[in-house]
Amino acid sequence: MINLILFGPPGSGKGTQAKNLVRRYNLLHISTGDLFRYEMGNDTPLGKKAKSYIEKGQLVPDEVTIGMLKNKVDANPDVKGYIFDGFPRTVAQAEALDKLLKGKKLTITKLLSLDVGDEELVVRLLERGKTSGRADDNDESIIRNRIKVYKSETTPVFDFYDEQGKSVMVKGVGLIPTIARRLYKHIDKK
Ligand code: AMP
Repeated sequence: MINLILFGPPGSGKGTQAKNLVRRYNLLHISTGDLFRYEMGNDTPLGKKAKSYIEKGQLVPDEVTIGMLKNKVDANPDVKGYIFDGFPRTVAQAEALDKLLKGKKLTITKLLSLDVGDEELVVRLLERGKTSGRADDNDESIIRNRIKVYKSETTPVFDFYDEQGKSVMVKGVGLIPTIARRLYKHIDKK
């Protein structure tokens, strides 16, 4: 089983590359951002709670996020592997994920981090905001807050898996298929 974490700041191309990886390795794609948007779209209690954080560019509290993620993994046991996109975003989430997988005799194979500069991220997200319908992509100050939160709360997750010898940094600029090939190279090495 291959269990990947697709890592990187907002706008680094995680969702785009996840699609390529799903096709090539036949994995289940779990994006916590997509799960929250689904809940918000259906106006569920979870969606209502998440919305207040998402619209400010803040992280949804760990206990809410971890519970939602666990439900999704538990509901899909018969898969060839998972690709986690936008999760874990804190060290507490990473610890919870490792524990969850361990209970299923599974482990993270690799964390692949897409490296893209801040100004490029802002340009990409504002561009995406024109068509994504996402309020958090439309406002530059919210975008900059998401990048700030990534640096303070999420980058320690890279170090967490680096200590396990699993983290790799991949250049996230260039053509989409070129970036995909960079990712494949690291996965196929294993
Ligand atoms: P994304 O689609 O991954 O950019 O996520 C959109 C928003 O959902 C983020 O800015 C957070 O507010 C929230 N979110 C998504 N994943 C997580 C997570 N793992 N932990 C906390 N908040 C999250």
